[in-house]
Amino acid sequence: MLSNYFAKSGFDLNLKKLIVPGIVMLAFYILGTVLWLVYGQIMPLFFFGYIGTSVGVGLGLYAALPKKKKPLGRRLSLLMVGTFLVGFAAIYGQENMQIEGAFFGLLGGVTQAAVVHYLIAKVFGPMLFGRIWCGWACWTVMILDLLPFKRPAGRVLGRWGWIRYMHFAISLGLVAIAWYGFGYQGGAIGRTAVAWFVIGNLLYYAIGIILAYATQDNRAFCKYVCPVSVPLKITSRLALLKIEGEAEKCNDCQACVKMCPMDIRIPEYVRNDQRVLSTECSLCQTCITVCAKDALKLSFGFDLGGKDYRRERTERVERKVRNEKVAV
Ligand code: SF4
Ligand code: SF4
Ligand code: SF4
Repeated sequence: MLSNYFAKSGFDLNLKKLIVPGIVMLAFYILGTVLWLVYGQIMPLFFFGYIGTSVGVGLGLYAALPKKKKPLGRRLSLLMVGTFLVGFAAIYGQENMQIEGAFFGLLGGVTQAAVVHYLIAKVFGPMLFGRIWCGWACWTVMILDLLPFKRPAGRVLGRWGWIRYMHFAISLGLVAIAWYGFGYQGGAIGRTAVAWFVIGNLLYYAIGIILAYATQDNRAFCKYVCPVSVPLKITSRLALLKIEGEAEKCNDCQACVKMCPMDIRIPEYVRNDQRVLSTECSLCQTCITVCAKDALKLSFGFDLGGKDYRRERTERVERKVRNEKVAV
C-alpha cells in the first residue's frame, strides 16, 4: 500500500540508490563518535550527526525524488548545513569560519572549530567524498545557487582560475601581517573573529552575485575566486567517490555538459574509460539526472586524478553574454 503511494507520487525508493547517502551519513556518525570518545564530550557527535543527517537526507531525497523535483534534495541539504554551520559558529562558538579563521587557528596552535572544519571538510573529507561540500553543504553556494544562471555557457575565455590562488595567498598574507606585524591574534575566536566571519561572508555573497550577473553563471565565484577551492582541488584528486560513465550507453548528446554547473566535459572521460577526474566536480549529480541514456552513476574507486576537461566559451558566446550583436 505504502509502496503504491510512493510509486504514484514518483518516489523511487530503490535501496541501491540509498547506498551512497547511507555511507556518507554513517561516515559523519563514525567521525562524531570517535571525537566523542577521544575528547570525552558528546558535542562532536551532535555536531557531525546533524551534518551527516542533513547531507544524507538531501542525497537520499535526490536519489528518490522524480527527476523534476530532485534539486529539492540538494537545496534542502545546502540550507540545513549552511544555516546550521553559520549559526553554530557565529552564535554558539563565536568562531571565524572563513579561511582566515583557520589560518589564525593554525598559528595559535589550537584545535579550534575552523581548523577542525577545514581539516574535515576541505582536506580529509574530499579524499573520500570529493567536493561534496561544494555541491551539498557550502553556505556561499546556498545563496548563489538561488540566482537565475544555473546553466552556464561555459568558462569565461582566458585563464582566470589563477585569481583563486591569489586570493588564497592574500588571505594567508593578511593573517600573517595581522599576527606578526600588529600582534593581533583574535582572528579565530571572539567578537572580532565573528565580525570578520560575518563581513567576510557578506563580501563573498556580494562578489559572487556581481560575478554571477556579469558572467551569467551562478558558479562564477567558485570557478574563479573562491580561495577554499585551492585545498579542495588538491585533496579531491584522490577522492574515492566520483562520477562514472558507461561508454557503450553514451551517445555523445552533450546534454550533461550543457547542464553541468562546473562546465566539465563529462563525455570525454566516458570515452577514455575514466571516471570524471576533474577537480572541479562538485558531485551535484545534475549530469546523472539529465542523461537520458542512464550512462552515468556515482561510484567508489581509486584513481590518482588526471586532466581537467572543461568547456570554454567561444568568442561568439562570450560576446552574446555581453549582449553584443553577433553576426549569424
Ligand atoms: S568553491 Fe568555494 S564557494 Fe564554491 S561551493 Fe566550493 S567552497 Fe563554496
Ligand atoms: S548526457 Fe549521457 S549520453 Fe549524453 S553525452 Fe552525457 S553521458 Fe553521454
Ligand atoms: S560532472 Fe556532474 S556531478 Fe560533477 S559538477 Fe558536473 S554535473 Fe555536477
